[in-house]
Amino acid sequence: MRDNHQSWGSYPKAYPQHVHPIRWRHEALPQTERTTSVLPYGNGRSYGDSCQNNGATLLTTHSLRRFISFDHDTGVLRCEGGVLLADILDNFVPQGWFLPVTPGTKHVSIGGAIANDVHGKNHHKAGTFGCHVRTVELLRSTGERITCSPHHHSELFRATIGGLGLTGLIVWADIQLKPITSPLIDKERIRFSGLDEFFDLSNQSNTSFEYTVGWIDCLANQQHTGRGVFIRGNHCADNAQSLTHIPRRTTLTVPFHLPSAVLHSGVIKIFNRVYYHLQPRQLTQARIPYEKFFYPLDTILHWNRLYGTRGFLQYQCVIPSRYEREGIRDLLSVIQQSQQGSFLAVIKTFGAIQSPGLLSFPKPGTTLALDFPFFGEQTLTLLTKLDSLVRETGGAVYPAKDAHMSSEDFQAYFPAWHKIEQLRDPKFSSSFWRRVTRLNTTPQHSTKSESYSLATEKEQAFAHHSLFNNMNQA
Ligand SMILES: Cc1cc2nc3c(=O)[nH]c(=O)nc-3n(C[C@H](O)[C@H](O)[C@H](O)COP(=O)(O)OP(=O)(O)OC[C@H]3O[C@@H](n4cnc5c(N)ncnc54)[C@H](O)[C@@H]3O)c2cc1C
Repeated sequence: MRDNHQSWGSYPKAYPQHVHPIRWRHEALPQTERTTSVLPYGNGRSYGDSCQNNGATLLTTHSLRRFISFDHDTGVLRCEGGVLLADILDNFVPQGWFLPVTPGTKHVSIGGAIANDVHGKNHHKAGTFGCHVRTVELLRSTGERITCSPHHHSELFRATIGGLGLTGLIVWADIQLKPITSPLIDKERIRFSGLDEFFDLSNQSNTSFEYTVGWIDCLANQQHTGRGVFIRGNHCADNAQSLTHIPRRTTLTVPFHLPSAVLHSGVIKIFNRVYYHLQPRQLTQARIPYEKFFYPLDTILHWNRLYGTRGFLQYQCVIPSRYEREGIRDLLSVIQQSQQGSFLAVIKTFGAIQSPGLLSFPKPGTTLALDFPFFGEQTLTLLTKLDSLVRETGGAVYPAKDAHMSSEDFQAYFPAWHKIEQLRDPKFSSSFWRRVTRLNTTPQHSTKSESYSLATEKEQAFAHHSLFNNMNQA
């Protein structure tokens, strides 16, 4: 659970008027006044405003965290929407079952994983999380409970996968787990000197490796553009390894927000260069615990504080296959010119497995994800430039990470948004949805205070001030 229900990027700041915990799966939704909207809140691991409902109500689900049933023959788990991926791993890896798809943190709820239709390093083999969801129970604001699946209420099911929490509260879901024989991953690392090498490695690896991803030095330019490290792995097939022997990893905590001087582009450039040169030139192999492979960032609690009190924006886009080489090169060139860099630039090719989700983000092509410390106008200007490049290629920007895209860009990236709007529960809304659709689903007393589209911190501070004024007057 995040302090004050901010999102992971701490930008934009949002202030829900009410926070209502949902504790039991048979519980009704709170009665809301006519103009107030509600939004489910999982574990706040979305970076931008898709998990925020500024001035309105958040339905927190951290108590909705029980396993309901498990079929040992088929591997189908029924669990409540607030169950974390970490809970599933802790309980089911020792029994020989793993998540079908996992994002880069295990501190994500089932509701959040479905609502953002998250993807992982195995997208080319397994598609998105939504491809492995068998059934969902939705609680609508009318009190109606709808059990939906690919065969039953299928349009509502498709709208709920990647539906950003807008179709109702996911009370429980059936998830297909996958069998494993070991908690270990056979991992390989290969340094590459540029983007062409990355694409070659990706093409070679995607048939024989279940998990593939690259880290790139986004500030290296000219002949070094796109240099980085390619990481690939498979579940260890050696069943002599005990499933219960899972070494615990020590965790460190970032105790306070770091000063913004540390985030200067010069510091980031040196860090990236040193990190790249520390990688061995030759292929290296290792057998490592799954946690070390999938969740390196989870060992540093509150690592988002490294970005200071102003927060940061993560930018993740996908460029369709036919433009991926030049598209990614153009994006990197714009980032280099802006001199705003990222410690962690992740690159991965998505496969062709189609998600059932109407608003799902992945499509065949290449995805690039970067963190930008928030430096006000200059950061937002950079993102606008990146957005238009992505739009020219027919790509998309990931709503789970976004705090900035314009409604025009969103509607171009996701033409199916109209269908979500038709199936949206009229009482459900989010800061993100109001921003990108410009529909007035906002509670009337807080419309002036929506702070997410404002460019400067000064304006945000003003918006925050007006929010409290408006709330006092309401
Ligand atoms: C370090 C890190 C690494 C990440 N790596 C990846 C990655 O590799 N791939 C990827 O796809 N994403 C990744 N993410 C993003 C993250 O997986 C998603 O944002 C995820 O949806 C967060 O889940 P959450 O439980 O925190 O939900 P929240 O962020 O709280 O909410 C996300 C959305 O889910 C909705 N929601 C939550 N619970 C319910 C419910 N019970 N019913 C209906 N709607 C609900 C909310 O309304 C909101 O729209 C990463 C995030 C971090 C911090």
